[in-house]
Amino acid sequence: MRPFNHINAETLDEASAALKKGGTVALAGGGDLLPALKDDIFRTYPNTVINLKSVPDLNYIRIDGDTLKIGALTTLADVARSPLVQESAPILAQAARSASSPSLRETTTIGGNVCQLPRCWYFRKLNNRFDCARKGGDRCFALTGDNRYHSIFGGETFETAPGVTRLCIAVNQGDLAPVLTVLIAKFVTTERVIGNLDFFGVGVLRSTTLGCGELLTEIQIPLSDFAKNARYKRFAFRKSIDFPVLNLAVAVNADKSRYHICIGGVAPVPYIALKAEELLNGKAITPELAEAAGIAAAEGAKPYEANAYKVQLIKTLVKRELLAL
Ligand SMILES: Cc1cc2nc3c(=O)[nH]c(=O)nc-3n(C[C@H](O)[C@H](O)[C@H](O)COP(=O)(O)OP(=O)(O)OC[C@H]3O[C@@H](n4cnc5c(N)ncnc54)[C@H](O)[C@@H]3O)c2cc1C
Ligand code: SF4
Repeated sequence: MRPFNHINAETLDEASAALKKGGTVALAGGGDLLPALKDDIFRTYPNTVINLKSVPDLNYIRIDGDTLKIGALTTLADVARSPLVQESAPILAQAARSASSPSLRETTTIGGNVCQLPRCWYFRKLNNRFDCARKGGDRCFALTGDNRYHSIFGGETFETAPGVTRLCIAVNQGDLAPVLTVLIAKFVTTERVIGNLDFFGVGVLRSTTLGCGELLTEIQIPLSDFAKNARYKRFAFRKSIDFPVLNLAVAVNADKSRYHICIGGVAPVPYIALKAEELLNGKAITPELAEAAGIAAAEGAKPYEANAYKVQLIKTLVKRELLAL
């Protein structure tokens, strides 16, 4: 790993100000960031890493009125074993428990999990071998290369220079993203509160809509029927320490008037299966309806050469999880 300055931030203002100056990256548990620095995948190596874990009062889980509140620096292990989370939003505890490995979960945080960079193997290749569009380069190598883990619902264009847009077909593969989406989470930052549909995004070296120097401070989950009546399923090739190739959260309210279905690993941001939701709203699940919803969830998919298998995965997993709901 190349050398960098390390600062223990005392306040969020100090961290934000340092990030706004440029050349600085924020560090939480380091599960995503430190391997990226070690592998030297960035175009420009940061000169400073600012540690957020030294900022007090960002590690908590509490119920406030009808909202579950989780500090951004809370570890995945704490989320997974919290009785409050297990009781009020069990699929969140389950998703936190599924991510990475037991030792990593003790240090990595919920905030870092939702802000993690894509796993695209071109993006992650040692020594920035593929200086792709997501890093500000001029092309996407996955479009013509091996795209077996990439999007089947199109790419995200983003501006790499004034008037220049590029496509990226990397997917959001985090365990918590689809779960927080179906639970209608709110993301509190140093500047605003962002709704579940607006938090995840795609830009140069970012997977959220957070601006420069903007930091996530808290995740809020309304204590609703959705939080209680929900299922989470991840499909991965190995049982442990493996990112989900595809992960799925489904939830329904008590009178079955509203279903929420969100799928990770199939689109640049967590994919909301709107057509399936519309088909289901107001109805009780039957085997026929669950199957039709699986087909509707995959509608509109345009797989690349190597990832058509994800279409069948969606159909099967949506059907199965609805039947188990
Ligand atoms: C071997 C291995 C296996 C893994 N398996 C999985 C898996 O199965 N599922 C999964 O979801 N993840 C997995 N991960 C990724 C990683 O463990 C998680 O993403 C983790 O939760 C990251 O959290 P962190 O606190 O370590 O974040 P860091 O690595 O410290 O930060 C990640 C990114 O988020 C930014 N960031 C962190 N906190 C904030 C904040 N409060 N506000 C704004 N930006 C912030 C950082 O600047 C950085 O860009 C794996 C990682 C490894 C190394
Ligand atoms: S999919 Fe995105 S991250 Fe991967 S090579 Fe293409 S531009 Fe880069």
